[in-house]
Amino acid sequence: MDLEYIEGLILKKLDYKESSQILYLYTDKGLMSVLVHGSRKVKSPYLNLTRVLNLVGLHTSGKDLQTLRDGDVLEDFRDLKENIETFTYLQHILELVYHIAQHEHDHEKLYLFLLKILAKVKTTEAYIPYLNMVELKLLHLLGINPLFTSCTSCGKTDHLQFSVREGGMCCKEHYQGNEPRVSDECVKLMMKLYYYDLQAPTPIDYTEETLRELRGVIDRYYEYHLNFRSNSRKMLVGLIGY
Ligand SMILES: [Zn+2]
Repeated sequence: MDLEYIEGLILKKLDYKESSQILYLYTDKGLMSVLVHGSRKVKSPYLNLTRVLNLVGLHTSGKDLQTLRDGDVLEDFRDLKENIETFTYLQHILELVYHIAQHEHDHEKLYLFLLKILAKVKTTEAYIPYLNMVELKLLHLLGINPLFTSCTSCGKTDHLQFSVREGGMCCKEHYQGNEPRVSDECVKLMMKLYYYDLQAPTPIDYTEETLRELRGVIDRYYEYHLNFRSNSRKMLVGLIGY
């Protein structure tokens, strides 16, 4: 039996037949699915292995659908799972990564970036900006990144106002105004996170109010340009209050 080795982050799992599950992993080659026989049985040896948000190394076999033969948890991010708020926010990100995994983009780049972000979130109490960073940088990867430096219609560079619908800044003439106004502080924070270099970290200054505003802008951006809203996002409202 030829075994394959798959290393990846478990984004989600779906029940399959009476007692099995299919794991969806994000890897440096994109999304992969693995069938786990009997993983819903109480005595399954895979209960700890198959948790969402685990980074795992799996030995699999099979032609079409890969089936789990053996595997190890490389990192379980236990502290992150124990905090319901952090875990829900992370699940929102995992849902997003799953949603866009079918798009053609640089999977290796995103995969390695996600691992770096998880390491950062693990050690940072104010973790939310780092998750917003993922959401903003993903827009670039998907080719729907906001234009920050000039009007999206005419290229003018003064008196600019951010528009979710236009996908970036608009001059006075081209700003329609029929959408919630985005404050300068929020645009500043958005740009800071969008361009942020994790290799050369600098302090991220923001107020809770701006962070909250940014959450709304990102939500509207994803809804308008990708028609996406995660299930976890709804749960998050109850946990973080917005
Ligand atoms: Zn213009």
